[in-house]
Amino acid sequence: MEKIPGKVRNHIFHGVTRSICPECRQMVDAQILVRDTGVFLHKRCPEHGWHEALVSSDVDWYLNSAKYNKPGAVPLDLATSVVQGCPYDCGICPEHQQHTCLGLIEVTTRCNLECPTCFADAGKGYDLSLEQVEFILDRFIESEGRPEIVQFSGGEPTIHPRLLEMIAAASKRSIRHVMVNTNGLRLAQDADFVRLLAECEPTIYLQFDGLTTVVYERLRGFDLLDAKKKALDNLAEAGLYAILVATIAKGTNDGELGDILRFALDHPAVLGVCYQPVTFAGRNCHPPDPVKRITVPDVLRLLEKQTDGLFQVSDFRPVPCPHPDCSACSYAFIDHGKVIPITRIIDVDDYLDFAVNRTSLDLSEELRSALEALWSMASVMGKEKTTGARTCAACSIDLGEPDLKELRGQCFMVQVHGFMDEYNFDIKRLMKCCVHQLLPDGRAVPFCAYNCLGYRQQVGLEQEHAIGRR
Ligand code: SF4
Ligand code: SF4
Ligand code: SF4
Ligand SMILES: [Zn+2]
Repeated sequence: MEKIPGKVRNHIFHGVTRSICPECRQMVDAQILVRDTGVFLHKRCPEHGWHEALVSSDVDWYLNSAKYNKPGAVPLDLATSVVQGCPYDCGICPEHQQHTCLGLIEVTTRCNLECPTCFADAGKGYDLSLEQVEFILDRFIESEGRPEIVQFSGGEPTIHPRLLEMIAAASKRSIRHVMVNTNGLRLAQDADFVRLLAECEPTIYLQFDGLTTVVYERLRGFDLLDAKKKALDNLAEAGLYAILVATIAKGTNDGELGDILRFALDHPAVLGVCYQPVTFAGRNCHPPDPVKRITVPDVLRLLEKQTDGLFQVSDFRPVPCPHPDCSACSYAFIDHGKVIPITRIIDVDDYLDFAVNRTSLDLSEELRSALEALWSMASVMGKEKTTGARTCAACSIDLGEPDLKELRGQCFMVQVHGFMDEYNFDIKRLMKCCVHQLLPDGRAVPFCAYNCLGYRQQVGLEQEHAIGRR
């Protein structure tokens, strides 16, 4: 008797990748499945069985993103070689597919808050010494030549007693842009410190989760709204600029995306907003919900709805220098108070779609360079790169010098960065990562590997031992 196939599967098999088991963190094979409108990882650990995780709620966005992938650059110097294979040789090792656009230095694991949601699991711990940070900066120069961005982070970097000297050390080494990643408490409470900070001109990456007290009580353990506003006012007074960084958690502040954007557009110290869908690495006050989590396209749709179309999903494109599944970005010109997304003026796909042979098109080379610089992890609003002058040395070419002050208030950035955790971890994204944690031993580790694969704990133990030996 003729055999006929059984019932049809409820998904389309899209491919395979490697991920980790959320229980034991061992590397496992993962199927990439398309079901309804979403894209899922379906993975099996020999010990802990099957797990499933949503990686994108929008299959069209996911499939379309591939064409924005661009060739990576090779660093001048590699810290490790291939021994165990990815992801155990970070790094960066010769297999890695991108240089460091943004280098992070965790100068302290201490913090003046103990947020219920913190992917760094910060609170108590160790400080790096100024000498350690100088060594890290020197290694960064060796591997990148003239690096694009260093971001001092933590823990809370503003409570490190030598932060200002660390920023000066980075500037002395001609690193193009220095950023400070902060909860803003000290900026709100210590205007003298803000004035000293202003002498070094860093861009502030300010944790800013919403405009209601309940959001801060839930995510940060306290009502911090007034402190955030005060921090921004102090920055404005000192002539410093900030990007607002909002962790977006379903049911907590996913209704405030539009309000955050409007507040940001109105505040003189704010250059843009970076929305980060919550990751389940470290501490989290929300129980992990791997198949219903908020993903990059969700944020874009909510933003369109909550801004009444001021920014639409169609105004965003994946950022091409890391893996295009990692983040999306858009920019707007501000003309006499009118906000006009760049995509309504320029067909950015002519320049950012790396799947077509762009050399066959009659394109402006200067515009191409400017747009590639904008759609980069190494872009810093208000700095030369995003206001039309220099562009990433590794990824692009140089242009002339514009009037920065004039341009500064005329361009606004919106970025969505979807970090990985043990649920949605995908090794192909990791291998193209350009956001690297710079370690005290001179290695650079892709940020999501640092958070998910035990590198953070390893560094913590090494530092505790080193401090114990002193
Ligand atoms: S993530 Fe990159 S640096 Fe780390 S092991 Fe894999 S290829 Fe090497
Ligand atoms: S999220 Fe930031 S402010 Fe909160 S505990 Fe962690 S490092 Fe500190
Ligand atoms: S940090 Fe994570 S999400 Fe960001 S570019 Fe790197 S791999 Fe992608
Ligand atoms: Zn397992």
